[in-house]
Amino acid sequence: ADPLVAAVHRLLGHADQVRKLGVRANADTPDDARRAHRFGATGIGLCRTEHMFLGERRELVERLILADGPDELTAALDALLPLQRADFVGILAAMNGLPVTIRLLDPPLHEFLPPLAELTARVARAEALGRDPGRDATLLAAVRRMHEANPMLGLRGVRLGLVVPGLFAMQVRAVAEAAAQRIRAGGDPRPEIMVPLVGDVRELAAVRDEAERVLATVDGAPEIPIGTMIEVPRAALTAGEIAAEAHFFSFGTNDLTQTAWAFSRDDVEGSFFSTYLERGIFPVSPFETIDARGVGRLIRLAVAEGRAARPELTIGVCGEHGGDPDSVAFFAEAGLDYVSCSPYRVPIARLAAGRAAVEPTTGTSDSR
Ligand code: PEP
Ligand code: MG
Repeated sequence: ADPLVAAVHRLLGHADQVRKLGVRANADTPDDARRAHRFGATGIGLCRTEHMFLGERRELVERLILADGPDELTAALDALLPLQRADFVGILAAMNGLPVTIRLLDPPLHEFLPPLAELTARVARAEALGRDPGRDATLLAAVRRMHEANPMLGLRGVRLGLVVPGLFAMQVRAVAEAAAQRIRAGGDPRPEIMVPLVGDVRELAAVRDEAERVLATVDGAPEIPIGTMIEVPRAALTAGEIAAEAHFFSFGTNDLTQTAWAFSRDDVEGSFFSTYLERGIFPVSPFETIDARGVGRLIRLAVAEGRAARPELTIGVCGEHGGDPDSVAFFAEAGLDYVSCSPYRVPIARLAAGRAAVEPTTGTSDSR
């Protein structure tokens, strides 16, 4: 064996012994989950479900969006259910015996339709050739109807789940049925259900009520904790209320940074932050290393109020910061239970968590 590799493994083993922070991974597929496990992740902190609505399933999602009345909507959801169940069986099997936090659908539904420009061009071409644009015209009308000036601040996350009847219930059923199936096969599934973009406890309570009604109807399902992302400032500011309805919190620091700074995370590259960084106005992008004085204060406040309301509350982070060493030091100090990051960053997060345990004063570079 390569002595360097052996030394790295010894170092990681040492870090694992001293660290108090758990290290999970963000993974959406069984392959990613297995890779994360090989890198030492002890669970999945974020399984995004949006990719499960892409590719060959796009047509089913289109049916869902174009559904005319409750019967068509139910039929579209019924068609998606077995596919979602199979996705979850795969990921629960790959992480047998370890927690897998499955997040309910987050993005706006029109993201699953072809872009406006493409549809407009297709319809125009058909019309120019004297052909009936057919389905494309219907899709175009739907995309226009669903247009939002600020989709990131629009009908996504929990809002979507509360507006489209049965959507979250289908996903919750798929999780519960997948877990029941794994148990029948002798497995030890540990799914958790996470609600995105909650800003008010009443949103979470409504989803939780519906989810618990669904869970009660699935034979052989295990107990499934239901928790929430904390990724908008209002959720952090009302964390005490929200904790009353949540088994766990997970900070979505990508959105929390975006919303606290009022700056689009998708435009950060090449926009004014680059000038700030070049001119040394900021030492580092707040999307890379946690901004301890702003976003970090929201996190500390939410941890304190969340734990005061529910001492056994499990608290993690699943934004990109979960794999950034300086941010990991901050999360350790703030008293989080785990960080969750991309599979490839798991070893770095393990080392950073170990270092934070032996050198607790190592803060972020911007933690004045
Ligand atoms: C986040 O906002 O930090 C997060 C993990 O969710 P997503 O990146 O999917 O919005
Ligand atoms: Mg988010």
